[in-house]
Amino acid sequence: MLPRSFLKEEHEMFRRSLKQFLEKEAAPYIDEWEASKEIPRSFWKKVGEQGFLCPQVDEKYGGLNADFGYSVVLSEEFDRISVGMVGFSLHNDIVIPYIEELGTEEQKERWLPGAISGDLISAIAMTEPDVGSDLAAVKTTAVKDGDEYILNGEKTFITNGHSADIAVVVCRTDPEADPPHRGLSLFVVEAGTPGYTKGKKLRKLGQHANDTSELIFEYARVPANNLLGEAGKGFYYLMNHLQQERLLVAIQAMASCELMLEETIDYGKQREAFGKPISQFQNTQFKLAELKTEIQIGRTFVDQLIEAHMEEKDIVSEVSMAKWWTTDLAKKVAAECLQLHGGYGYMEEYEIARRYRDVAVSSIYAGSNEIMKTIIAKQMKL
Ligand SMILES: Cc1cc2nc3c(=O)[nH]c(=O)nc-3n(C[C@H](O)[C@H](O)[C@H](O)COP(=O)(O)OP(=O)(O)OC[C@H]3O[C@@H](n4cnc5c(N)ncnc54)[C@H](O)[C@@H]3O)c2cc1C
Repeated sequence: MLPRSFLKEEHEMFRRSLKQFLEKEAAPYIDEWEASKEIPRSFWKKVGEQGFLCPQVDEKYGGLNADFGYSVVLSEEFDRISVGMVGFSLHNDIVIPYIEELGTEEQKERWLPGAISGDLISAIAMTEPDVGSDLAAVKTTAVKDGDEYILNGEKTFITNGHSADIAVVVCRTDPEADPPHRGLSLFVVEAGTPGYTKGKKLRKLGQHANDTSELIFEYARVPANNLLGEAGKGFYYLMNHLQQERLLVAIQAMASCELMLEETIDYGKQREAFGKPISQFQNTQFKLAELKTEIQIGRTFVDQLIEAHMEEKDIVSEVSMAKWWTTDLAKKVAAECLQLHGGYGYMEEYEIARRYRDVAVSSIYAGSNEIMKTIIAKQMKL
């Protein structure tokens, strides 16, 4: 791999201890977690105890003030163990940053220490049964009533939804707003709030370890001081944070691509046909050489974006490019590598079978790849 200048010796030390921890505490249990469709809370606590939850948070709340390089390492290593561990990166680098950036002092003191220790699992709820890509059309309402808001509506496909102690929920606070996106606000809704229930854990094609749920609000009374930031600015806050969310999806896609290639190279060297390892057939070599080239291109682009993101540059268009291109690449790598495994690639014992299922959704969530192209096209002023 070419040098990755944003990763210093301290990041690599962190990676070594994280790898060791995950090999011992996560890898042996993935099948069990996939069967129960949930990663146990006791594991979240272990992750927290090791300092692997939200290390970027200010020391004042128990964090380590760590830079985004640590988030990259965490995201890559969680993905290498299982794409189904995506809920950790979502908690660390997608949900909790909303509280860090928009929370009042009281809100930060209330939620950040638990998010770091693993006592508090988080989720973000944007999608609804009738509203996905067109986020501005969110229907869940929040109506002010004294010092509370009354929430009504339903969210779906929410990662960590079932285990979440808090969820950042996108609601419509102003039904008259024109344009409609100006009427959205963000609320932190705590588990146990009267009128708030979690639906069933959804049955999915892949990413079985990670729980994905419906959240239902029926006259749920949420304290007004759980409003995050200002009322009516929810859509802007979401847009500001989506750059990091989409970059993380690209980082995970590249980690998966690299792992699938490594596994296939190993398999190709030990599997024999016609009296020689299949890695010695020219077709196998050309396929693997092509994939290696494309993976290197993706890696170079994503690493450049990580650096730009760490320098706080506005790279919305470039991140949208990386998100669609790397996730399409992950799906291609999965299909090609499965083919090179032959029948064994279709068997559960082989990682490639799981990856084939797990990476399929990466072109859909965090903004579908079609939506990424609309963002790029808009910036091209076509
Ligand atoms: C496993 C999983 C986890 C998820 N986790 C979360 C989560 O934690 N929180 C959350 O809020 N959501 C989550 N989602 C929801 C996800 O973000 C949405 O599924 C996604 O945004 C697409 O929305 P949709 O499913 O409603 O598809 P739709 O919006 O109905 O789109 C259907 C198809 O039409 C295309 N399309 C839509 N609009 C356009 C357009 N303007 N131009 C061209 N094509 C278009 C789409 O690209 C897609 O191919 C998750 C989804 C899954 C499957």
